[in-house]
Amino acid sequence: MTDLDRYSRQIRFPVIGEEGQRRLLASRALICGCGALGSVLANTLARSGVGRLRIVDRDFVETSNLQRQVLFDEDDVAAQLPKAVAAANKLRRINSQIEIEPIVADVDHANIMSLLEGVDVLVDGTDNFETRYLLNDAAVKLGLPWVYGGCIGAGGQTMTILPGETPCLRCLIQEAPPPDATETCDTAGILSPIINVIASIQAMEAIKILSGHREAIQRSLLVFDLWENRVLPMKAGALRDAGDCPACCRGEFPWLSGERGSHTAVLCGRNAVQLTQSAGTRLSLETLAEKLASVGRVTRNPFLLRLAVDDYLLTIFPDGRAIIGGTDDIPTARTIYARYIGS
Ligand SMILES: [Zn+2]
Repeated sequence: MTDLDRYSRQIRFPVIGEEGQRRLLASRALICGCGALGSVLANTLARSGVGRLRIVDRDFVETSNLQRQVLFDEDDVAAQLPKAVAAANKLRRINSQIEIEPIVADVDHANIMSLLEGVDVLVDGTDNFETRYLLNDAAVKLGLPWVYGGCIGAGGQTMTILPGETPCLRCLIQEAPPPDATETCDTAGILSPIINVIASIQAMEAIKILSGHREAIQRSLLVFDLWENRVLPMKAGALRDAGDCPACCRGEFPWLSGERGSHTAVLCGRNAVQLTQSAGTRLSLETLAEKLASVGRVTRNPFLLRLAVDDYLLTIFPDGRAIIGGTDDIPTARTIYARYIGS
């Protein structure tokens, strides 16, 4: 029996009421990426009583995250925990009555459809356009509502997408900008208040959708600059009406088919490259630890293995995925991976 009393202040808001709360409790959200935006999203949606939260993230907690990623603390850094696991630990202490499903993985075209199974809304906590275009492809194909959000410096933007009804991300920007054409938190930095603003709006939009109030969603692209004190709502409806969007008008989904996008990525915000292996790869971290013991300093927990060697820090996951710290050069990262883990 769910205790509704903990949500009494939310139920008292007349549009939500007890019925809206029951709908939230019966729903499932996928939070894609649990860094800065994802932390605020997960925290807010868990406290609001979204009954099932599926949280997927590919990364682990580092000290430089703590400035803005509100779910994590120094103990998580010391324990070398993946963000999805650290988030789940914290969220279960915040609300033990909901179901938290942490998944340590990189979202790609091979796993996105299974990650979206049984999901009522998708919220964007990612840090790159390639993944967002994949999310857009999948959401438009499924007719699933999703809430886009992104931040850089002291600015950010967000838009809610109801496929078939409002413009999608490709209506807005048909082609994903090349990775080197966009600023990242590495180049432009990031101030934490903008994250709280953007993620809070995303969470509110998710709550409207899940509680059965789609009529209340924000139908413009909202652009904020908190340093310059500007908020700019941009009407985007006409973009969809033009009728030439490859995704929602022509049903083309190249990111979902794997035709577009790659799995190798220079990670946002630090000197590191992620390398992935083909689906189905399994590594024994225990065997690997024995093999690497003479090579450098090895540490391990149930979720990942870490090897410090020369100027590099390798973090290896059981699915063969690795994050090579100490370089932002993809060929160098591949060489390091082949040298110590195998090709
Ligand atoms: Zn579209």
